[in-house]
Amino acid sequence: MLKNNDTLSVQITGYTSDGEGVARHEGEVIFVPHAIAGETCKIRIVNVGKTVAHGKILQIEVPSPHRVESDCPYFPRCGGCDFRHMDYGEETALKRKRVMDALTRIGGVEIDELPITGAKELYGYRNKVQFPVGSRKNQPCAGFFRARTHEIIPIDTCRIQPACADKAREAVLNWMQKYRISAYDESAHRGYIRHIHLRCGFKTDEVLCCVVANCKDLPQKAALVRMLREAVPSLRSIVISYHQKRANTVLGDRFETIFGDGIIEDMLCGLRFRISARSFYQVNRDQAEVLYEKALALADLDGTQTVLDLYCGAGTITLCLAKRAKKAYGVELIDAAIEDAKQNALRNGIDNAEFFCADAGQAALRFAKEGITPDVIVVDPPRKGLSTDVIDAILQMKPARVVYVSCDPATLARDVKLLCAEDYTFSCAEAVDLFPRCAHIESVCLLTRK
Ligand code: SAH
Repeated sequence: MLKNNDTLSVQITGYTSDGEGVARHEGEVIFVPHAIAGETCKIRIVNVGKTVAHGKILQIEVPSPHRVESDCPYFPRCGGCDFRHMDYGEETALKRKRVMDALTRIGGVEIDELPITGAKELYGYRNKVQFPVGSRKNQPCAGFFRARTHEIIPIDTCRIQPACADKAREAVLNWMQKYRISAYDESAHRGYIRHIHLRCGFKTDEVLCCVVANCKDLPQKAALVRMLREAVPSLRSIVISYHQKRANTVLGDRFETIFGDGIIEDMLCGLRFRISARSFYQVNRDQAEVLYEKALALADLDGTQTVLDLYCGAGTITLCLAKRAKKAYGVELIDAAIEDAKQNALRNGIDNAEFFCADAGQAALRFAKEGITPDVIVVDPPRKGLSTDVIDAILQMKPARVVYVSCDPATLARDVKLLCAEDYTFSCAEAVDLFPRCAHIESVCLLTRK
């Protein structure tokens, strides 16, 4: 039996879903962060749990040919990236294997081939940035949470973020210092500024800065507008999000636009989209285009079909579908995103798309009851996957095709298994990497009716 502080030499044989190395020792499983498959590492056991132990690398005895020197001074202290210690080839190989393993082991399907499209750009690709704000030595600071904690690691720059993020962050911190605006203290639930949230339109160069504040009304707003605009000339909007609850969510529920119109616009798949602070927008624009093209190809539309897009956000996929369908419906829970989606239809002159603000499951069951029978249903749920209502509604509406866009291979596989136990057959799946250097992976999967 392993116990804390044991030191031993182990072979790394695979990876966890978070990208940690996995080793086995006399039947016991050990997770070793930042180890690469194929390596032999001398480790110290730091934690023995019920089913797995955790080890820390003391020395890499036989390094992998895929091991590289990290090019970021904050890795791995900052919880942002998971893979700066390996080359991108190894990263895409392990992500591909993770999707494949989930679909075969959990989903119970047979797969001969599962391609992955890696990103061309590994740096500065994120169009959304959220800095938690805190204080150090009585000075405001902003950065990232240390992995698995709420301790802020101040940063000057981040490899996967755009340059405008640094400029906006510095401007907000300077404004806080100059006007003595306090940083939020999570444990005491006191102080003003909680988060700096940024959105950038990579094709339009527009920036939205949202400052999240624990108060009823933020002081010195005019100065904030002036200082931010000076620092980031391409700023289109500044929004304050008032957030006075003790909660882990970044944004609050009340918003005030103090500059511009509260949105940014960006181009995606040849369409122009407006995105507001509360709407979801894929963080990697270029790879989102690749993902959407694959989803559209799997939908196989010729202009005669009716399609239903569940979990549609600002209508990005829905409107791409609408261009190739007779009619497209989009359903989304967040009202601001539905407002964006409706505006986005108008902006792009698309008149065969209709949007509903509702829970996907409830809306889908209602559609089924009303006898709406879409030819294709596209789903793009959050990590927890489809609700049983959505599964039931799909089985009632009997679309010929279900295109499942997923950000979590495990829940994708669970849902594939449920649908394939009834009327559907697994056709194919592909992975697209929207998160280079991070453990997340997107995939898209086609199920066809038996
Ligand atoms: N397809 C969109 C959004 C995908 S993200 C795009 O690619 O941009 C998932 C979306 O599901 C988010 O917009 C989230 O707000 C929404 N969502 C989460 N739970 C939901 C529910 N129960 N019903 C409907 N939408 C939900």
